[in-house]
Amino acid sequence: MSKHFDLISIGAGSGGLSAAERAAEYGKTTAVIENNKLGGTCVNVGCVPKKVMWFAAGVAETLQDASGYGFDVSLNQFDWGKLVEAREGYINGITDWYGNYLKDSNIEHIQGTARFTDPHTLDVDGERYTADHIVISPGGYPVVPDVPGAEHGITSDGFFALKEQPKRVAVVGAGYIAVELAGVLNSLGSEVSMLLRRDHFLSDFDAMLRETLMEEMMNAGVNIMSRVNVERVEKQNDGTLTIHCQSGVTLEDYDCLIWAIGRAPNTADLDLDAAGVQYNNDGTIPADAYQQTNVEGVYAVGDVIGKAQLTPVAIAASRRLSDRLFNNMPERRLDYENIPTVMFTHPPIGTIGLTEDEAREVHGDAVKIYQTGFTAMYHAFSPHPQRTAMKLVCVGAEEKVVGCHIIGMGADEMLQGFGVAIKMGATKKDFDNCVALHPTSSEELVTLR
Ligand code: FAD
Ligand code: NDP
Repeated sequence: MSKHFDLISIGAGSGGLSAAERAAEYGKTTAVIENNKLGGTCVNVGCVPKKVMWFAAGVAETLQDASGYGFDVSLNQFDWGKLVEAREGYINGITDWYGNYLKDSNIEHIQGTARFTDPHTLDVDGERYTADHIVISPGGYPVVPDVPGAEHGITSDGFFALKEQPKRVAVVGAGYIAVELAGVLNSLGSEVSMLLRRDHFLSDFDAMLRETLMEEMMNAGVNIMSRVNVERVEKQNDGTLTIHCQSGVTLEDYDCLIWAIGRAPNTADLDLDAAGVQYNNDGTIPADAYQQTNVEGVYAVGDVIGKAQLTPVAIAASRRLSDRLFNNMPERRLDYENIPTVMFTHPPIGTIGLTEDEAREVHGDAVKIYQTGFTAMYHAFSPHPQRTAMKLVCVGAEEKVVGCHIIGMGADEMLQGFGVAIKMGATKKDFDNCVALHPTSSEELVTLR
């Protein structure tokens, strides 16, 4: 006997929950199958705990800045364990809330690992569930490199499990997670080295952002080492880690090594072949603009499709999918162009649209750049002033804004509104027509010359 639903989501993370929730709002019978905690990566080992750590790092920075504003503050201690306990309590509150919400919304929560037996049937620990529509949203896991001793390192999951603050940390990787975790640890007082295999990080982002961030991180004390390829990792008798690099250089005395080299999709357990669902060599599932896989009634959303791996993307794509399936909106889908994104670095980054290099490649001489760099007023009183840098990438005679890149205090909160304008097709003139807010950093974006 099997139980039938209108829609089943595989995974109760950002994508799966949102598809089921929206379908339930339309009165459909729905279930989510989850083999770990409700909320998925974002809530448990991603955005939420990361942002708590970033806030804590911000408090540490503010304490250092306090003297410039006339405060005589003596710091007794920072209790990592207390912070982690509070953070996990907060997260448990969110997952408990999800549990109640699913019950109240008549969404069935099935705990276990889903595996296809045919395109519309899933097996979970011997129980069978069928659905007209199955949403594959299993997210991903952090990759560990295939080098001897890699197991002595941890990933972002392990970072969130740390009960004590590491003293001397090596972060290997060059993407979002590497720069965010290195920044948090450094601001909270750990000694941090970043090991990059190139001579820069954030390869896919505008050069102004990565160059400014690198300078700021180095000024803040992060040891950034370029062109380092890890060959093997050795654990010494005293528990410290020695990192042997391909160049012959040996790095010693680390008590923590974090691999932050990307994530891979959680598709191995799904038996996609049983459903006839096509997948790429790296396990990601190709989906069309409507999240449809090659099999009718089977969809893929979120990190598993391998592009724009961000919570709001998974949520937006899933909600639109359920709108399309159950609310008579045949054209409803997520537009993957111009997705804004924020990095919780020190200082933070907000970015949307084409980088300068990408724009020049597509539009050549039609590109016009407006940019500025300055020290925000707050930092005039700080012993460790941080830079702010902003760039608008404009195209054509009408100077349509096709890229907006900001690094500096407040960039994370600044971008959303500018994102709306860019999504609407705003030109430089539209930016200039909006009267500035003073005194703020964001006013620079509407007064660039
Ligand atoms: P997930 O949220 O990963 O959910 C998938 C769920 O499926 C998981 O709970 C998993 O246990 C479950 N599952 C997997 N396989 C099966 C199976 N066979 N059966 C049953 N259940 C299964 N994004 C942002 O927008 N902003 C941020 O600040 C941000 N910070 C991040 C920080 C870190 C450290 C990380 C790792 C990620 C961060 N992200 C951030 C990315 C964001 O977390 C993901 O893009 C988002 O969670 C993807 O949602 P999803 O639904 O695709 O997958
Ligand atoms: P990313 O894909 O962002 O970055 C990983 C980078 O590490 C690669 O781009 C590569 O850079 C480098 N790398 C890859 N393999 C190796 C290797 N063997 N040795 C050394 N360096 C290597 O992955 P992350 O794990 O940082 O994050 C995964 C995704 O999660 C992000 O892409 C993002 O979508 C999401 N996320 C979003 C956040 C946010 O919104 N604020 C925060 C955290 C994660 P290079 O080729 O230049 O060396």
